[in-house]
Amino acid sequence: ETTLMDKVVGLCKRRGFVYPGSEIYGGLANAWDFGPLGVELLKNLKEAWWKKFVTERIDMVGLDAAILMNPTTWEASGHVGSFSDPLMDCKKCKSRERADKLVENWQHDNGSDEQPANWAGEKTPPQDMLDFINAKNITCPQCGSLDWTLPKAFNLMFKTQQGVVEGEGKEIYLRPETAQGIFVNFKNIHTTSRKKIPFGIAQIGKAFRNEITPGNFVFRTREFEQMEIEYFCKPGTELEFHAFWKKFCMDWYLGLGVTPDNLRFRDHDQAELSHYSNATADIEYHYPFGWGELCGIASRTNYDLSQHMEYSSKDLQYFDEATREKYIPFVIEPSLGVQRSALVFLCDAYEEEEMKEGDTRVVLHLHNQLAPVKIAVLPLAKKIADNAKSVFDNLVRQLGLNMDFDVQGSIGKRYRRQDEAGTPYCVTFDYESLDDNAVTIRERDSMDQQRMKIEELVPFFREKFTY
Ligand code: ATP
Repeated sequence: ETTLMDKVVGLCKRRGFVYPGSEIYGGLANAWDFGPLGVELLKNLKEAWWKKFVTERIDMVGLDAAILMNPTTWEASGHVGSFSDPLMDCKKCKSRERADKLVENWQHDNGSDEQPANWAGEKTPPQDMLDFINAKNITCPQCGSLDWTLPKAFNLMFKTQQGVVEGEGKEIYLRPETAQGIFVNFKNIHTTSRKKIPFGIAQIGKAFRNEITPGNFVFRTREFEQMEIEYFCKPGTELEFHAFWKKFCMDWYLGLGVTPDNLRFRDHDQAELSHYSNATADIEYHYPFGWGELCGIASRTNYDLSQHMEYSSKDLQYFDEATREKYIPFVIEPSLGVQRSALVFLCDAYEEEEMKEGDTRVVLHLHNQLAPVKIAVLPLAKKIADNAKSVFDNLVRQLGLNMDFDVQGSIGKRYRRQDEAGTPYCVTFDYESLDDNAVTIRERDSMDQQRMKIEELVPFFREKFTY
């Protein structure tokens, strides 16, 4: 049975949204390349985010920090010490298994909160952990052996070398989140932008995590983009802003047409909260494989700025001129995944619509802002292609939108191709157009057609594509 996920993956490949990464070499596990339609979708969703979260708000400014950062950043942030998952190796076949549940159970049974991260390097976990594993009789899914090593912490950060001489370079990391670029620039931005608290800094960029269990298409990959905000506020006001940003993120997804029933909040309970967080909520989506995280909104107190103050010996406090108070700002962090959001928009938009007599059309009901191709201009016959092309040229120049021009195949087939790509409007130029200076506009979802003067197209579409 073909699942919705298989169908979406198939459509993505077939139409040029997403291809397996470096496919001609047999691919690279869980790496994906975004093709001509995919790159437009990503661009449109990032622009939609930037518009609503930054451009339209006077309390927000942007940043594009470097991916490679001084490695002390990651000591201060805690990523060197604890951004890790516990793994254990099968002694016989050397295959690797996650041990997070095991460690959790061991901690629970022993009333211990000792973390495998503390066992990194030379230190080994307590001997009774090994007895605990042996007692569980866990069979290796690869070879059936019962013989395991002790769980070891496996850091999720990608390491690389800065400097050209092998072995002499400085070891640095690819950033596992964009957020720390914001914190280390807090002072610079506060000084130069003259924003007063509460205000926020936004950033879109790549992040890298050596995930143990990537998968589910672009849901979890080792290289991905994040759209993150650090919203700085006065201590004591943070829970109010946490509630505000939760709703703001949810409204952003709803405003881009995601089915309300497929979205929900999930608040982290006390046990799940990071030690520095006093509130965290995820927005979850009902993916074809079940409910899962779409984005997170965390109240991180002043943990990050305090840590950077300690490690850099720089004063990152805020001076409130009105009240003459000095304090380390608290922060709310809404963090959204770009490709994970794209997956949600694609899954949510996908429909196989029953037409008459067992005929079905595949259609992507993408929001106008997200649609990779906004308008397709279709000449009814090759003979009038030049006339249609000048309509295309004029529209694309005045509207500045990504458009398609297609002469190949029957008009019905061309409509179906555009439906699959999620193109909201087709503009058909026929022989009559030569006389009446009008064209037929066909709407994707309703398939309704209307005749319109060519000179009316620009204001009509400008209105349709205002986000
Ligand atoms: P998860 O629990 O799914 O690993 P997380 O809680 O570690 O996610 P955050 O660190 O809060 O995730 O990252 C914020 C957002 O970045 C996530 O909600 C998701 O949209 C995106 N994201 C995180 N890791 C990945 C990944 N490996 N691939 C794609 N997107 C990711």
